[in-house]
Amino acid sequence: MAHRYRCGECRFATRWTTESEVGDLAAAHYAENHPRLVLGGIVEINQKNPNSLGCLSMLGIAFLLLVIVATCRR
Ligand SMILES: [Zn+2]
Repeated sequence: MAHRYRCGECRFATRWTTESEVGDLAAAHYAENHPRLVLGGIVEINQKNPNSLGCLSMLGIAFLLLVIVATCRR
């Protein structure tokens, strides 16, 4: 899973990264750009990991199921 922080004060958004790093990036952004404000904004969560081959493995599983169904019907 990937996390991304969106600032509540400006249009800043971090890159997709880990949950713990998002917290650090958000704190750093607020310290630099909104030093007098309490940390706000939202964290977006991407269920798909952009670094994994999740989509490909799903296709592989679907293909395997098709092969199994095809062989069982013979
Ligand atoms: Zn900001």
